Amino acid sequence: MKSNQAGQAGQAGQIDEQWDLIVIGGGITGAGVFREAVRMGYKTLLVEQKDFSWGTSSRSSKMVHGGLRYMAQGKFLLTMTSVREREKLLREAPGLVEILEILIPVYSDQKPGKHTLSLGLSIYGLMALEKQHTYFNKNEFLAIVPDIKKADFVGGFQFLDAQVDDSRLVLRLINEGIASGGRADNYTEVTEIVRDAERMVSGVRVKDAETKEERIFSTRAVINATGSWAETFHPSPKPNLHLRPLRGSHLILPKDALPISRTISFLHPDDKRPVFASIWEGRILIGTTDLDHDEDLSKEPSTTREEVEYLLDGINAYFPDHKLTAEDCIATMAGVRPVLSEGKLDPSKESRENVVWSDKGLVTVTGGKLTTFRKMAFDTLKTTSPFLPKPGKKVENEPVFAEINGMSENSDAVSEVVMRRLCGRYGKAAEELIKMSSPDDLTQIPGTNTLWAEIPFTAKYENVRHLEDLLLRRVRIGLLLPEGGKEYLDKIQKLCKSILPWDEKRWEEEKKAYLKLWQEAYSVPKLN
Ligand SMILES: Cc1cc2nc3c(=O)[nH]c(=O)nc-3n(C[C@H](O)[C@H](O)[C@H](O)COP(=O)(O)OP(=O)(O)OC[C@H]3O[C@@H](n4cnc5c(N)ncnc54)[C@H](O)[C@@H]3O)c2cc1C
Repeated sequence: MKSNQAGQAGQAGQIDEQWDLIVIGGGITGAGVFREAVRMGYKTLLVEQKDFSWGTSSRSSKMVHGGLRYMAQGKFLLTMTSVREREKLLREAPGLVEILEILIPVYSDQKPGKHTLSLGLSIYGLMALEKQHTYFNKNEFLAIVPDIKKADFVGGFQFLDAQVDDSRLVLRLINEGIASGGRADNYTEVTEIVRDAERMVSGVRVKDAETKEERIFSTRAVINATGSWAETFHPSPKPNLHLRPLRGSHLILPKDALPISRTISFLHPDDKRPVFASIWEGRILIGTTDLDHDEDLSKEPSTTREEVEYLLDGINAYFPDHKLTAEDCIATMAGVRPVLSEGKLDPSKESRENVVWSDKGLVTVTGGKLTTFRKMAFDTLKTTSPFLPKPGKKVENEPVFAEINGMSENSDAVSEVVMRRLCGRYGKAAEELIKMSSPDDLTQIPGTNTLWAEIPFTAKYENVRHLEDLLLRRVRIGLLLPEGGKEYLDKIQKLCKSILPWDEKRWEEEKKAYLKLWQEAYSVPKLN
């Protein structure tokens, strides 16, 4: 593996290199387009203004799902596409995308009732071409979730969806795109789309976030995959359709805060919106809210105290004996949905479908979901095709990830479960990760599924520029450990000292900046 493959800086304003395609945005949408474009044989560059997956794509609810509620809104095509994509990802990315069992309790005083849910789940299963739900009577359900609210409780359903580490999904696509010949630069902001006399796109002007150095890259076409920022480069061609940034927040709690072993989804008593509590990476993840986000998009979104109370009220209504409080939470995580709105509906009723707009070599893709990244990538590349030569290869029917053969047999260093997880997150590079790590580093960071070895490995190979990249997105311990993992920062420094080119002073600055950021955007907000 090559380490830190980011591009070399050129002279200010210099036309640096000719590309077939430049993708702006290193979230799931940009990463999906990048991966497929490289596989099709295009010379492709991806640029991300901050870190890969820094935007919404590291802050989702971690579900690869059809979305039962989208089906309930009559969005059958979106649900069916998502279910099909989910099935493919479960087959193609074991260890990264895994089955998620979801329980829905049924109460006699709530809608939808048992029959409507049964019908809905049957249709949902049909989309996956198999029955994927089971009804549990009251006693059977209570054997699985003994502490659920008992008043008016009649039983409940279990159905299947899938769960992912969203940031690792983005990184696996980007890393495999790089390994196949693409280039991806983080901390590189596009400041201008360059056009010729006929207004055809001819390049982009970029600025390095730290050195402020500017370069112009020339290209045949640009794909604008900037999520909530998309209208900065490409105002909506439909006067009534615009991006409406909607914030969704989550709480992260220790696993023993609630006696659940599967995801549970229920209606919030205040507004009847679906809310869930899941197990993710050895912690409980509770989400989510859905509110207009009027803040500056260049700042990390954060969870308000009202959102914390709303989510806790929801969970406490269904687990009344537990009386969870803000003090039980380890961290919060907020993200901004790039939702396209035609008039202000109730946020949760806004469409989650994507759009693709084309303007003389600039193709914009925004909206949509994490789950449907591949479908969005192909729709976007199809719209971009008039500006590109014929693709070298047809890839639409091939698995999106590089095949990993025979690795589990080769490793005695870790268990099969750990190997599966590493292969899912790092693909073929899992082999190198194990090879370069001592047995001590192949153990888990207490309270998480993350191995110590993942930290120096990602620091070496995955374009880490700041400590926050490493702890919040390469591995996720910043979300999983109290105070963002403060107690381990010295150990992390030791593990990465010979890898990251930071002197003692820089380490101290990075630690300080990381802890400040964690406090501002990921801690549990105090009562005013
Ligand atoms: C709370 C919440 C929960 C969700 N849960 C789920 C879920 O469970 N399952 C699911 O399928 N979907 C879910 N979604 C939706 C999903 O997360 C988003 O649709 C998806 O992540 C959007 O990806 P994106 O790449 O389009 O945008 P982003 O991830 O935001 O990426 C856009 C990137 O563009 C970069 N950028 C912007 N301007 C520039 C510039 N000038 N130059 C260079 N780069 C630039 C940004 O820094 C950013 O990183 C959820 C969303 C939210 C908010």
